[in-house]
Amino acid sequence: EKTVRFAPSPTGYLHIGGLRTALINFIYAEKNHGNFILRIEDTDRERSKKEYEKAITDALEWVGIKWDKFYRQSDDFSKYNKYFDKLIEENKAYRCFCNDKEDKCNCFNLSEQEVKKKIENSEKFTIKLKIPDKNFVIDDKIKGKVYFKKENFKDFIIRKSDGVPIYHFAVVIDDYEEGVSFVIRGEDHLSNTPKQVMIYEALELEIPEYGHLPLMLGEDKTRLSKRHGDVSIDSFQKDGILKESIINYLMVLGYSTDVEIFSFEDGIDDFDLSKMTKKATVFDYKKLYWFNKYYISSKNLEEMEKLFKDYLIKYGYLNIDEIEKMGENFKNIVGISKDKVSSLKELYELNKFFFEEIESYDEKGKTKFLEKEGIKENLKNLYKILENENWDIENLLLVFRNFAKENGMSLNKVVQPVRVLITGKTVSPGLFESMYYLGKEESLKRMERWIN
Ligand code: GLU
Repeated sequence: EKTVRFAPSPTGYLHIGGLRTALINFIYAEKNHGNFILRIEDTDRERSKKEYEKAITDALEWVGIKWDKFYRQSDDFSKYNKYFDKLIEENKAYRCFCNDKEDKCNCFNLSEQEVKKKIENSEKFTIKLKIPDKNFVIDDKIKGKVYFKKENFKDFIIRKSDGVPIYHFAVVIDDYEEGVSFVIRGEDHLSNTPKQVMIYEALELEIPEYGHLPLMLGEDKTRLSKRHGDVSIDSFQKDGILKESIINYLMVLGYSTDVEIFSFEDGIDDFDLSKMTKKATVFDYKKLYWFNKYYISSKNLEEMEKLFKDYLIKYGYLNIDEIEKMGENFKNIVGISKDKVSSLKELYELNKFFFEEIESYDEKGKTKFLEKEGIKENLKNLYKILENENWDIENLLLVFRNFAKENGMSLNKVVQPVRVLITGKTVSPGLFESMYYLGKEESLKRMERWIN
């Protein structure tokens, strides 16, 4: 049976690299009808926070990653003890009393008597692994064969003086006890893999297969981090990225395929680890927004209305009453603008003028369209006509057209100044739809403000 796991440390929010690791593990389990374990690696008691654990599980749930088993390493630190005992008994590990004065450590050579005495004097000790005198090769399922020289390793601590196992030890024991057959994780863990293999060998346990996922880089080819933009799943959500876009992009990133649009199910069907690239891949925000635009426009109106509503409420842009007060108009607004945007946040920005008063005009729009000679006169005349007109989309178009014709202007010359007055911006959903849904009274009020 194939068993994989995602093992985040709850010391921060889930970032895009972590999500990718979780996703590949999940897909692998689905594809192979195996098990997917979510293990919270909280051996670092100081930096681990419940808040981060929740952010991680929320983010995974949000994108639709489900696990068969969940546990925390802190649930039971005692389970590691018998393995420490075994190693000490077999002389493969030893108590070290030198507390950081590592270079001169001679503890491996302490006699049984000496050790006993120190323990009786309640001297603090760590447990160190006696490492073998040999080079290591890891046959990585993604990276290929990777070689490690013995000079780069020395005896290392596997249990801290407070009795808590260090990360490498806990990983090995947990993976063994949970029957993990394949460890898929970020390449940042590759350099430490020999240490973990040494622990397996010392305990004479079966070593799992390894696959290390190439790092994700920013545009400048350095490791992707906050400097490049948002990297946490929370922040992507806040920016109005849909889960389909993130999943789709992560499925094709660093994966060789002719197909670009993948649903979760397609991704699982197609999945083949040998199609993953060995090299680091650049995370392209533009591409993510390209996917997001695609998914936003392919949603039907009802779905989009719901998504947008939930988004606005969750991030405090509008409350439920404000949305309900708009009635059908809320949906209509989504309808006229959803194909124009690349994120839910943009959808909000674009339609902000429906939700609140305009506080200022776009600078460029103001100088280019409102402060031109004769514009005010024109707008006054147009205003007088509009006052007596029927307020529907087709008629508004007709009125604007006629007005342009009678004044020897292009339609655009009439539309643009009005757009700035109505929406505050030079770019908006269609002007006539916008005026229609905003209503006659409010639209005229916004025009009046400038012409008087
Ligand atoms: N807990 C480690 C991390 O969050 C992952 C360990 C592993 O996958 O082996 O980076």
